Amino acid sequence: MTLTRHCSVCDDERVFEQPPCDEGHGVDCPDLMCSVCGTAIVIGDAPEMPVIIRSQAA
Ligand SMILES: [Zn+2]
Ligand SMILES: [Zn+2]
Repeated sequence: MTLTRHCSVCDDERVFEQPPCDEGHGVDCPDLMCSVCGTAIVIGDAPEMPVIIRSQAA
């Protein structure tokens, strides 16, 4: 399963794919991993509108 989400690390739209699941979720696994930077997100925890995290170094 793949889908496109905004990656807060890449700061762009990225294809997220399901990583290998070690927790027995099977096809219902809520975990997704950015195919570019490897950042993992959980579908249930991801807000529809991504929260912009302000950089401390601004
Ligand atoms: Zn899982
Ligand atoms: Zn990313």
